[in-house]
Amino acid sequence: MAKTFPAAHLRQTVAAIVAAAGSERAEAQTVADNLVLANLSGHDSHGVGMVPRYIDAVLEGGLKPNTGIAVKLDGVSLLALDGQRGYGQVVGEQAMTLAVARAEASGSCVMALANAHHLGRIGHFAEMAVARGLVAIHFVNVQSRPVVAPWGGGDGRYGTNPFCVGIPLQGREPFVLDFATSRVAQGKMRVAHNEGRRVEPGYLIDEKGQPTTDPGVVVVPQPGGMFGALMAFGEHKGYGMAVACELLGGALSGSGTWHRPADNQRAVINGMLAILVNPEQLGTQASFAQEALAFVDWLKQSPGDVLLAGEPERKARQTRAHEGITLDDQTWAEIVAAGAKLGARVA
Ligand code: NAD
Repeated sequence: MAKTFPAAHLRQTVAAIVAAAGSERAEAQTVADNLVLANLSGHDSHGVGMVPRYIDAVLEGGLKPNTGIAVKLDGVSLLALDGQRGYGQVVGEQAMTLAVARAEASGSCVMALANAHHLGRIGHFAEMAVARGLVAIHFVNVQSRPVVAPWGGGDGRYGTNPFCVGIPLQGREPFVLDFATSRVAQGKMRVAHNEGRRVEPGYLIDEKGQPTTDPGVVVVPQPGGMFGALMAFGEHKGYGMAVACELLGGALSGSGTWHRPADNQRAVINGMLAILVNPEQLGTQASFAQEALAFVDWLKQSPGDVLLAGEPERKARQTRAHEGITLDDQTWAEIVAAGAKLGARVA
């Protein structure tokens, strides 16, 4: 069973719960807007279904409401920032606002953001940069539970480490490639598990390292309290990219890497290395504008239905803005229960 809600209703509901967990009104609204936009964009794994986890993380002390970035190093086009375990939706926007201003002023910016709580959909931050005509590349690591198996390995050793690149296209909608380096996002396994669905072969191994189609192996503890693991996308190549995300988003950012057994902490900590380039100042603007469009048009002329990254999300936004956002009963029940823990009534 499932319920469909208008986006505005979910925004109000989530903002009320986040505020009940101690956030000031503006922060609660930013978190709510961000999560609902992820649902509208078709990524339910990074939408309002995250709220129960965020509330648990606040109650455990791993997520700190009303906490902004601290500037650790300001080298004009080099920024090292610390999210101090504040809401990723808030510290991520603060960090990107600073980085965008630097790239606009000096042509580029390398920004390291450590210790953000869950940044959610990384494409959101690339969209902030491309809206200003900038190219943005993001390497992100995840410290929560080691849920992805290294290529050739048999248990989870690292997170779903997302990679994202946003590229403005003159006079057109931008290219926004944004994905987890696991074959599928962990949150999509939670959604599939809540809906009682099996997933395709090749996505998962169980707690014994054997292939399985049961998403529950990465959502609920298996016999002996063990978990299964997600596989990397693209075999050794996706695995290598995930390692690059851990080394750049985790180690180089100052956030830290995962190298310990799983614990039961509810907080999800993201580290991000963002590289922003202003094409206008690189001296290749004319070629960039023309050649990029020529290439995109060339792709689109291929027989069949060719999409460019970013299009599926924009299409989903149009549809869901009209038709509403559908949540399965389990996800909704968990949101209601999260509100109840804080004395917020959710209807
Ligand atoms: P996905 O597998 O749905 O891939 C999405 C990307 O592929 C998008 O860029 C989309 O535009 C593009 N795409 C989809 N269909 C296409 C087609 N037919 N042709 C061309 N391009 C196409 O994404 P995912 O791996 O499930 O990740 C979902 C979200 O989860 C992302 O927003 C990611 O940032 C987020 N995430 C966040 C974290 C975190 O810790 N913050 C961790 C993992 C994932």
